[in-house]
Amino acid sequence: MSLACDGAQVRRIAAALTACYGTPQHTPSDDPVGELVATILSQSTTDQQSGQAYRALRETFPDWAAVQHAPPEHLAATIRGAGLAMRKAGRIQQALAHLHRAHGAYTLEPLRAMSPAAGRAWLTRLPGVGPKTASCVLVFALGVPAIPVDTHVHRIARRSAMIGPRVSADQAHGLLEAELAPQQALAFHLNLIRHGKTVCRALRPACDRCPLAAYCPRHGVGP
Ligand code: SF4
Repeated sequence: MSLACDGAQVRRIAAALTACYGTPQHTPSDDPVGELVATILSQSTTDQQSGQAYRALRETFPDWAAVQHAPPEHLAATIRGAGLAMRKAGRIQQALAHLHRAHGAYTLEPLRAMSPAAGRAWLTRLPGVGPKTASCVLVFALGVPAIPVDTHVHRIARRSAMIGPRVSADQAHGLLEAELAPQQALAFHLNLIRHGKTVCRALRPACDRCPLAAYCPRHGVGP
């Protein structure tokens, strides 16, 4: 299996994206545990539905201890708008229990000092937390320079030959992170998402107006 990552290509693409879309800014959340819970709720549903479920959870329970120790059926009823409510309730309660066991409090603060790989390894021990979810929590809530690889990032990375055709999304996180400076991680991720939604779409990529065309072997070939 090819695990190739062309570092020079990653840096060229990052520079071209920045030239086109700028450097998007993001202020890390002051509530990393809330971000983790919100990210679990967001799995397999829309932002609107998971957002409503998260607000209902925070309005119903006074603190994370109350969420952890709530009857599972009560927690599931509170977050039912996010779908898969019993499964997500269980994952949230197990995640909170794990945080409290590990840190003596409902906190993720110790992860701020970890590398992206170490932080991802820690978070993916939680039930229902995969590499993408873990990387989102790290970069958006804790300021750790992880690069979440969602479907947009993975598609563009493969099409533009930043990674080999057999590299999975889970494998791509560490490969891409290794090629960029930490301060580039967040902008690279956000710019790839924007590019994937507007230009390098899954169907009918707009290669004729793509700022990456000069570097992309798929230019004009199609999906
Ligand atoms: S040239 Fe086409 S395939 Fe390559 S990144 Fe741009 S839109 Fe995607």
